[in-house]
Amino acid sequence: MKNIIYLFLVFTQLNTGFAFPLSQIERSLDRLKQQHLRPVAIFDLDETLIHSAKRKVLSYKKAIALNRATLSQQWPRETNLAETQINQNAEALMRSLPNQYDPTLFFQRLGICNQVFVKALEALMLPIYLSNEFISEDTAYRGAVQLLDLIYQAKGEVIFVSSRFQSTQESGTIKNLVDLYLYQNSKQSFVFLRNDGERSVDFKQRAYTEIKSRMERDESMLIVGENEPENFNLLTEFFPEAFAIFVTGAIMNTEVPLKRVPSMILTKDFIRD
Ligand SMILES: [Mg+2]
Repeated sequence: MKNIIYLFLVFTQLNTGFAFPLSQIERSLDRLKQQHLRPVAIFDLDETLIHSAKRKVLSYKKAIALNRATLSQQWPRETNLAETQINQNAEALMRSLPNQYDPTLFFQRLGICNQVFVKALEALMLPIYLSNEFISEDTAYRGAVQLLDLIYQAKGEVIFVSSRFQSTQESGTIKNLVDLYLYQNSKQSFVFLRNDGERSVDFKQRAYTEIKSRMERDESMLIVGENEPENFNLLTEFFPEAFAIFVTGAIMNTEVPLKRVPSMILTKDFIRD
């Protein structure tokens, strides 16, 4: 019965676009204030707080421009199609997909079904996407600034745990977070990025372990947010007391099922209820 109710809730939230329960979070913030506890939050960046589709589209374009000769030698039709189809509308197309992280579907919609070509282009695009180059094009999810502002106003701390690479993306990431008003100051905001060669899920585990061990007695984990089921499951194991936000719409590892937890909030953005 519990499962049926739960499935119903998931279904209605996903399909009728229930607004984000910001007032619940405000009430929790008030409670923490009365208890003299400082709120802490952990958020992933890409496709949790930040739209990275434009960066990805620009990275595809640059990868094609840089490798046009070799690509078109092997795949003339696909290269030509990709070059003409990846235009301004490609960002909107990517964001409209049921899974924004599915390159097969994205290229299918552009009329490209050759998976060998898609894989080759992906490999050329990734180093550009995972660099500082187009991070300034990233935008915030609707309501993200207002949500983080509530935590900052309560003198809380926001820790961004992202699998972006520290060596190639740290400066662009911090500048973009400042520009988008998501980063407050070095006392209230902390950016935790991945080491070279580290697997994403191993990095997240290391980050959550470190954050948990560093937490002071007057601090309380209020919110955790992710878009990857694998990371979300880990987060809720580490911090079961927190509101667990799962942002729908972009999943890299579709093999790991999303674990259902009582404090779970499924959402597409952070627009107030
Ligand atoms: Mg993400």
